[in-house]
Amino acid sequence: MEKKTVRLTLLGGVNEVGGNTILLEDYSYNVKIFIDFGLRIKKYYNEYERGQSPSSVDEILRTNLLPDENQIPINNLYTKEFREAEQNKETVQRNNTRHVDKDYPSNLDGILISHPHKDHYFGLSFVNRTIPIYTGVVTKRIIRAFCKSAKDSISNNFNGLNWQTFRTGDIIDIKGMKIVPFHVDHSVPGAYGFIIYSSAGPVVYTGDFRRHGPLSNMTEEFLNEIKTHGTILTKGETDKQQKDLISEGTKVLICDGTKIHKGIVESEQRVEENLEKLFANNPFDFILVKYDRIDWDRFRTFSLMAKKYGWKYIITEMD
Ligand SMILES: [Zn+2]
Repeated sequence: MEKKTVRLTLLGGVNEVGGNTILLEDYSYNVKIFIDFGLRIKKYYNEYERGQSPSSVDEILRTNLLPDENQIPINNLYTKEFREAEQNKETVQRNNTRHVDKDYPSNLDGILISHPHKDHYFGLSFVNRTIPIYTGVVTKRIIRAFCKSAKDSISNNFNGLNWQTFRTGDIIDIKGMKIVPFHVDHSVPGAYGFIIYSSAGPVVYTGDFRRHGPLSNMTEEFLNEIKTHGTILTKGETDKQQKDLISEGTKVLICDGTKIHKGIVESEQRVEENLEKLFANNPFDFILVKYDRIDWDRFRTFSLMAKKYGWKYIITEMD
């Protein structure tokens, strides 16, 4: 019987929107990583009203919003800082280096974060501060900016994390297991897919992506990378065994797709056209718009319209 070398456990994001969290264990490299660490965001908004937040990690686990450590082979996944049920605001605002002092080492070797949408990263707030968080330079910047602009709470505290940033072209090396992060086009900048060169062969995780956006060439480049493995073969110092595995092609493809079964492509251009019509028929003195703070496409549409009509575009500082 062939020895089992890699195990993938999908802990969220299956038949649901949000909660994308995948545990990859490679027994040959002795590596355990998470691919994305999203909170079950729909459930989160059902449980908590706007402005409300959980009082502890235990509460989050009880309500099944994040993976339960007792059911997976990971120790010390969550920060000790928020374990106790009784929390106060002071705890959240303390200097975050204290997390590192308090958190014990974990057997988790890292968490890969594909892009700064809450269903992919929002669980990080509760994570042990010693665990390396691998993410793109822009994703880290957006997460930190978002954190600053929203209300302080234990679910919005991304300080003190052990960030390890990358750009396209870099190769992540975890105990000898190589990972190539590669850019894709999505509605938020700084989105990546990953090619994980496991001991069983390449495992591809697309993250969220699109092929119809303004930077769709980035997605095409990722698709090409999946086929050619150019980065790992030119810069990865692969041996013959690894090259042979790569030549066998992708072993597993994990693809994100919320509307994949509907085949609907929502065009931002249509939003722009409808806005144009609205303005043509109703000459407003001012207009209030509301959209997700990290919906970069919508921001661009509204700001372009404002520019076109010579308006001031004013953004609130806080949510
Ligand atoms: Zn997304």
